Amino acid sequence: MRNLNQYNYNNKRVLLRVDLNVPVSEGEILDYTRIDKIIPTIKYLLERNAKIILISHFGRPKRRADKRYSLNFMREELSKRLEQEVHFCSSIIGEEAEKLVNSLKKKEILLLENLRFYPGEMDNDLDFATELAKLADYYINDAFSCSHRSHASIVKIAELLPSCAGLLLIDEVQKLNIYLLAPDKPIIAIIGGSKISTKIDLLYNLIEKVDYLVIGGAMANTFLKAQDYETGTSLYEEEFLDVAEAILTLSKSNKCQIILPEDVVVAKIIADNANNKVVDINSIPNDQMILDIGPSTSRKVNQILQTCKTVICNGPLGVFEYFPFSSGTININQEIAKLTNQKKLISIAGGGDMVAALSKAGLFNEFTYISTAGGAFLEWLENNSLPGLEVLED
Ligand code: ADP
Ligand code: MG
Repeated sequence: MRNLNQYNYNNKRVLLRVDLNVPVSEGEILDYTRIDKIIPTIKYLLERNAKIILISHFGRPKRRADKRYSLNFMREELSKRLEQEVHFCSSIIGEEAEKLVNSLKKKEILLLENLRFYPGEMDNDLDFATELAKLADYYINDAFSCSHRSHASIVKIAELLPSCAGLLLIDEVQKLNIYLLAPDKPIIAIIGGSKISTKIDLLYNLIEKVDYLVIGGAMANTFLKAQDYETGTSLYEEEFLDVAEAILTLSKSNKCQIILPEDVVVAKIIADNANNKVVDINSIPNDQMILDIGPSTSRKVNQILQTCKTVICNGPLGVFEYFPFSSGTININQEIAKLTNQKKLISIAGGGDMVAALSKAGLFNEFTYISTAGGAFLEWLENNSLPGLEVLED
């Protein structure tokens, strides 16, 4: 992949694609990680006298301008962090944007409005990308977390301008390559979350690669159901019972051992401290739902972990947002943290809710590597590549 050293940025206009899609609630930024992480590339470019034009999407506006999703609030945040004024442009293409870009002096920064206010963005549209390309001399992608999307600001633009990868993107790809292209064996994958439907390709891919595949979360319910267990009122996906069965069969010919819950925590409602109990999977009450893996299952997984060299984690094993249904996720991830600390295990984790669960348990810094990239992390696991990365390769 082409990196930042490729070009001379002195007095040049650089279009820098970043991910400013931070979690926000009632106007407050809940997590600053994504903002902090783009600072090094911006500083690199400032030191080299570039004129920086920042572009990002934010939220899911319906392909048109919508004040609720304006990126304007980010201007102040970035100005504070960079200790210099960041300018804002309320459009992306057209006269105003061109005028503001052309008035930039070296070492100045301009943030453009939300890319997704334009339908051309998500359509990977050539005309939109051509307009965008008029604004700059170079394009840099520093948004690994968006690089699984074939959008104009990720893919098409890179075909129109001299382009390369930013520091954050390079770092993320290098770490995934180091730990996951030729991982130390045995390998165990621990996959949870709510839906098989969003992780089918991942599961198929993992059974070819890993020695053990632990399936938890609501996903496990569909597997249990496929094996004719009564799962009460548990969430499961009727249309994916066949897929679950196919995955179980295929795992055998791939010598991948699938581990499903043997005991589970059930309750009637999802709420903090809801009345709950641990039951064997053979005796799930018909008016209750599975909300976490049980202690015997955790113990079994923790035992297998002692024999493994690499672990890949995605998706919480229970409804971790509510106590005590976070117990299974916490228990297993604490063991992973301990083994990582003792240098016995390489631990890689990713996924939006997975990262939230690890942060909540105070384990964010205890893994070998945690990807905050969500969908891009999953797609990279599936294909070892992403559309946005391919266009930056020679
Ligand atoms: P990630 O973002 O890490 O990839 P997912 O988005 O696939 O994870 O799934 C996370 C969601 O799965 C969480 O909101 C969690 O509450 C839910 N979940 C986990 N286990 C269960 C369960 N047994 N029943 C219902 N929801 C569950
Ligand atoms: Mg999620």
